Amino acid sequence: MPMSEADSVPGRRAVRFSVVDPATGEAFDEARDQQPGELDDVVARAQRAWRGWRADPAARAAALRSAADAVETAGDDLARLLTREQGKPLAESYAEVARTAVRLRYFADLAPRTRRIDDGRPVHSEVRWRPLGPVAAIVPWNFPLQLAAAKFAPALAAGNTMVLKPSPFTPLATRLLGSVLATALPEDVLTVVTGREPLGARLASHPGIRHVTFTGSVPTGRAVAAAAAASLARVTLELGGNDAAVLLDDVDVDRIADRLFWAAFRNCGQVCMAVKRVYVPARLHAEVVEALAQRAKTVAVGPGLDPETRLGPVNNASQLARVEQVTEQALAGGARAASGGHRLDGPGYFFAPTILTDVPPDSPVVTEEQFGPVLPVLPYRSVDEAVDAANSTGFGLGGSVWGTDLDRAEAVADRLECGTAWINHHAELSLAQPFAGVKDSGVGVAGGPWGLYGNLRPFVVHRPQEA
Ligand code: NAD
Repeated sequence: MPMSEADSVPGRRAVRFSVVDPATGEAFDEARDQQPGELDDVVARAQRAWRGWRADPAARAAALRSAADAVETAGDDLARLLTREQGKPLAESYAEVARTAVRLRYFADLAPRTRRIDDGRPVHSEVRWRPLGPVAAIVPWNFPLQLAAAKFAPALAAGNTMVLKPSPFTPLATRLLGSVLATALPEDVLTVVTGREPLGARLASHPGIRHVTFTGSVPTGRAVAAAAAASLARVTLELGGNDAAVLLDDVDVDRIADRLFWAAFRNCGQVCMAVKRVYVPARLHAEVVEALAQRAKTVAVGPGLDPETRLGPVNNASQLARVEQVTEQALAGGARAASGGHRLDGPGYFFAPTILTDVPPDSPVVTEEQFGPVLPVLPYRSVDEAVDAANSTGFGLGGSVWGTDLDRAEAVADRLECGTAWINHHAELSLAQPFAGVKDSGVGVAGGPWGLYGNLRPFVVHRPQEA
């Protein structure tokens, strides 16, 4: 993200930074590099807008439904821009835009429930729910629109206003989304700010922000929590994952191979809850490696705007370097690439879809989050050993168990230390369910009514039943 020409905003050091198309490795546009000093004005405006926005739930719900319509109307422009800066196949960008609109409608229809406390005393005690004020959302580059919507839809539905900061790798579609939403929402209810660090750090510590909701890596999540401690703002952290898929000995490999492959490789493996390790009974190991490698060798890799493409590039140069590094470490430690194992020649940030076997269990591609198109497949001798291995990392986002006997698979899934466990699937989420990582994978709960209440505070009214 090199700097380019200076903006001529009087009294401010405003510059722009380049945005790169990962399919070419070339800059194709720029975004404003907003300075931390600008946040005072942005947050003050969000505070003023809050007075009106919090007052009328019915008007709020109507505005959010109009906002969903506006997102759908702008779908073509949003999807193309998203693919251009993020790299994902265009069909996936369309799906991401659609999910953005769906989230707005879902939360528009959700209202908190007032609850009476009945503990036998002669008092009338009632819990009502109040919004928090201006909140901040900081999101990563893998699903810029969808993850932003997962934050602004519940926050705005709850009656808060929001300042949203996308990743500097993917600022453009979010900036466009902000303009689209502005056609349906009152002024300053949602403000998109773009810029490089320390913009996010300053936003997380801003004294006018009452809740910081962050999605990103574990180290940045720790920094955000520390920054938010300055103002004692509430913190919700959705962090990294290293999800294991445990295959049982009654698994039907032919039947599940496609689903398992895409659970690992969708969005080029850049999914927090992608399958990042596969544990397979030793006697099925060769068959599973072969089934996955055959798919990895034949899947269409290319620019996201090409309609034939199923797997796009890695999003950015430093992530590509990271994927290459963990792969080389594994290969140097004795692993073998059953497919891929290297960058692809030519422009852009392309890495060959890689299935690794004979991987040392302490290799970083197993113990850390690779976040790219590389998948280690590890043999196990007993289910206990597989469960221990699945639970052995510092992460605890999701996990899955695959087999024909569903009751047995569920009993194994029940032993996984994570927020969501799937049987014969992975990473399928409903809008209505809670989403929460354990261990280093997160703090707080998003999704469904839990996500709405995460953006509210209880307010208790307590009065005697008689004067
Ligand atoms: P990242 O942590 O590098 O960046 C995330 C966001 O934080 C970006 O907007 C970035 O600009 C900002 N940021 C960077 N430094 C900051 C600081 N000091 N203070 C405040 N903000 C700062 O993450 P990334 O590389 O963009 O995204 C990949 C990570 O996100 C992976 O670890 C992935 O697992 C995780 N992720 C988690 C979920 C989830 O729901 N659990 C979903 C998607 C991605």
